[in-house]
Amino acid sequence: SMASPALLMRVVASAYSVAEKAATIVRNVMAAGDLGIVEKTGANDLQTKADRLVQISICASLARKFPKVTIIGEEELPADEVTEELIEDGHCEEILKKTCPTQYTGIKEEELVIWVDPLDGTKEYTEGLLDHVTVLIGIAYGGKAIAGVINQPYYNYEAGADAVLGRTIWGVLGIGAFGFQLTEAPPGKHIIITTRSHSSALVNDCISALNPDSVIRVGGAGNKIVQLIEGKASAYVFASPGCKKWDTCAPEAILHAVGGKITDIHGNSFQYNKEVKHMNSAGVLATLRNYDYYASRIPNTVKQSLVP
Ligand code: AMP
Ligand code: MG
Ligand code: MG
Repeated sequence: SMASPALLMRVVASAYSVAEKAATIVRNVMAAGDLGIVEKTGANDLQTKADRLVQISICASLARKFPKVTIIGEEELPADEVTEELIEDGHCEEILKKTCPTQYTGIKEEELVIWVDPLDGTKEYTEGLLDHVTVLIGIAYGGKAIAGVINQPYYNYEAGADAVLGRTIWGVLGIGAFGFQLTEAPPGKHIIITTRSHSSALVNDCISALNPDSVIRVGGAGNKIVQLIEGKASAYVFASPGCKKWDTCAPEAILHAVGGKITDIHGNSFQYNKEVKHMNSAGVLATLRNYDYYASRIPNTVKQSLVP
């Protein structure tokens, strides 16, 4: 008989279904109309009922199946609020059929760290910019982002009533990434994608120094990586602290699975072991192609302002 699938593939297959359940919760909270907005560090750092319920759903569902895995979620919540209707038990069969890369077949539960951003782009969610929103489940091993799931609950929401709403993108290093059409940005053009709601003089100075042909300002780290892999932008540039490990883990795994690159603004790779500092203090630089073009043009003055 067939050997049982490797742990990594079972975790990714479950994370896929858990992220789809999360998307349903995100849509249901918005449809019900009571977002229950709480300010965390300030007016540009919000938490809604969707962030709270989705975090409980993702973390409790994955912890039930994989009790020894370390799961780190963005939101600080009381521990006792799990209700059965928030639990997702399913998995994606298509993912289980893929062969686990040999370097990952021996991974044990206690060696995995899962970074959860239950709702990335919360500020935009509260403003009705619904296609900026993603659910992010990143899977790390040995300090590296090796697999991830990005769900877009409102993918296609402006495409009309007969379009299928929402989609799930997943990827594993050594297998690839699926659920979208990999597309390169227009050659010879420098289209920078960056924050919409967390700009600063440094963020804007850094972008100006890159002489872009155009600048796209949208919410969400997950959303910006999706725009890169679909060829809508050539580089994600964010010369500021603010982005955290749960923002970058799933996007990094998917971007790296298709040959892209993400680092801080100095070119340092991110670490995702469970003890790591959550803040990406030295910003974000990501591309699908031509990483060196952008990395070599980040001004030293910008680098000196961002201590890793
Ligand atoms: P953005 O591109 O502004 O949507 O930011 C990407 C991710 O980093 C989101 O999860 C934001 O909430 C987070 N982020 C970026 N800058 C800040 C900040 N100054 N304060 C809080 N969160 C931030
Ligand atoms: Mg986020
Ligand atoms: Mg979030």
